[in-house]
Amino acid sequence: MHSKTKIICCLTSALFTVSMFTAPAMANSNKANPNQTAWDRANPNAAFKRCGTADPSAAQVAAAEEQFRQFSALKGKPTKPGGGGGGDGGGDPEVRPAGSVSIDVYFHVINDDNGNGGNTQAEVNAQMAVIDNAFAGGSGGFATPFTFNLVETTYTNNSAWFTASQGSAAEQQMKASLRVGGPETLNIYSYNVGGGLLGWATFPSSYATNPQYDGVVILNSSVPGGASAPYNEGDTGTHEVGHWLGLYHTFQGGCNGGGDQVSDTAAERSPAYGCPVGRDTCRKGGEPDPIYNFMDYTDDSCMFKFTAGQAARADAQSFVYRK
Ligand SMILES: [Zn+2]
Repeated sequence: MHSKTKIICCLTSALFTVSMFTAPAMANSNKANPNQTAWDRANPNAAFKRCGTADPSAAQVAAAEEQFRQFSALKGKPTKPGGGGGGDGGGDPEVRPAGSVSIDVYFHVINDDNGNGGNTQAEVNAQMAVIDNAFAGGSGGFATPFTFNLVETTYTNNSAWFTASQGSAAEQQMKASLRVGGPETLNIYSYNVGGGLLGWATFPSSYATNPQYDGVVILNSSVPGGASAPYNEGDTGTHEVGHWLGLYHTFQGGCNGGGDQVSDTAAERSPAYGCPVGRDTCRKGGEPDPIYNFMDYTDDSCMFKFTAGQAARADAQSFVYRK
């Protein structure tokens, strides 16, 4: 049994100067939980930390949801009165049809100063194919509105950027130099992230206050066929793009309250690692933990789906903040 360190990033204060995500609350997630069970500690792959994207506090989630409601009213997101599926209260959002929203992607490969270490074009293409297939429901999940159009792959030799840690000056400089487009454009940066992290992303609601920082960072060896087994089938990219479209982790909020703000992902007390079939950490008589969901922390070979509720949330968040 390995001891597990929680993944929450170290540098949230620098990252989320956004009104919704002020820093101090993040540290709470690192405190030992006296109610922790073996499930909670069962990370067989402790060398890797799945994701550095912030897990906001309950208060921050509530504030973000309230801001979203206000922005959504202004933006006029269509709703479907009495419709089924995700969402709670009022009419459910009208989800745009499967495959109807094409997102332009700029993929930034960073090499060291000597031009080594970065992903090849074939690896970039394979990574994008995995993301596209996942959001299309091709691996067994719900077919979301999103498709991904790789416009350009850029290659940069810069040893400082090649190992830029989350929130570092090097990361800021890299993004300021390479980022393309507005809130609707997805910029992905791949390099040797370090610290065992597989990646991190920004939420749609963060764009307005920190546009240059917007985007997704992934560990270059997490791409399909990379060296980061069991996280080398490209699902780090899928997971981080999920955040970029507004999805929280499935364990957001634990067993309490609205959790990840999606009604058809079962509540989960803590991240799941490996592929623990039958794991059920909330025990409210509901369904087992959503270990097969892209927004959990399980192995790439285990996760294969987004739900209809997640598609609706991602659609609504991106409609309001990225359209
Ligand atoms: Zn994550």
